[in-house]
Amino acid sequence: MTKFAVIGPGAVGCTIAYELKKSFSTVSLLGRQHKTINYYPGDNNVAQPLNVTPLTEAKGKVDVVFVAVKTYQLDSVMPHIQRICSSNTLVILAQNGYVNTDSLQLPHIYQAVVYISGQKQHDNVLHYRDEILHIQKDSHTQALARQLQHTQLTLVLEDDITTKIWYKLLVNLGINTVTALTQTPAKVLQTEEAKQLCRDLLLEGVQVAKAEGIQLPQTIVDDIFSIYNGYPDEMGTSMYYDYLHSRPIEVEAIQGFIFHKGIKHNLAIPTIRTTYKLLHAYQQHVKL
Ligand code: NAP
Repeated sequence: MTKFAVIGPGAVGCTIAYELKKSFSTVSLLGRQHKTINYYPGDNNVAQPLNVTPLTEAKGKVDVVFVAVKTYQLDSVMPHIQRICSSNTLVILAQNGYVNTDSLQLPHIYQAVVYISGQKQHDNVLHYRDEILHIQKDSHTQALARQLQHTQLTLVLEDDITTKIWYKLLVNLGINTVTALTQTPAKVLQTEEAKQLCRDLLLEGVQVAKAEGIQLPQTIVDDIFSIYNGYPDEMGTSMYYDYLHSRPIEVEAIQGFIFHKGIKHNLAIPTIRTTYKLLHAYQQHVKL
């Protein structure tokens, strides 16, 4: 029986663990300490208990690890990931932003693009919608997708995951930056100034993506605005909530990543530069 571990008992990790546990008896949800999370699935509002065991106490090797910590928490879990992995273990990073997986020295590591929406509030996790991970297609991920086909966790296999990662990066670049810096949820885009700022961010982000060799449709900015237009007025992004509550934000893996790529290509990206510097300055003053 395949042994699964899910590291990070937050919104994404609990959703993955909950769906896996319905079909497999060998799933461990690993966090900082022993606790029980009340998980509220999107399709009903009855709390489902999920037991968490400490990552530091995890023993033995597992076959598949889903890593669902925030990007700035990845370094702290890496030694433990290495400890529970064999040379055949698949490691799937279920995170936003861009992670340089080559530097992590794990033979089968994949960055997924996550479409799971939820929120952690202390020991309660509310799942809102979706259980979808996009991932690079190869023989290992095809075998995993076959194993998961009877679960509600959907693995979408991609011929070119980098383009999907960039698409999500651009979606996050616009809305996360604007909602965080204005401390206003999605309805902020009803103001012309915020809409223009968001459009400028996207236009500059698209320039960076193209310089990186990413092929995007001509309509990408309008396409992303159509996504934003579907957001409920009061919907916040994780960066908005984290900024509002003075918690660390995933700025380096999103805005910082795009900014540094733009600098590498000598591109004029004044809107990304200014907003990144503001978010970066904020990050210096919160405890990671
Ligand atoms: P989250 O709710 O904050 O969950 C992260 C979990 O990891 C927390 O339970 C945290 O514990 C745990 N953790 C952190 N460091 C740890 C360590 N050293 N050892 C053990 N556990 C540790 O985050 P999330 O919202 O699930 O997001 C995970 C990733 O998915 C992020 O990259 C996010 O951008 C992305 N994403 C999220 C959503 C969403 O709707 N939430 C949607 C798409 C993508 P503590 O609480 O004790 O720190």
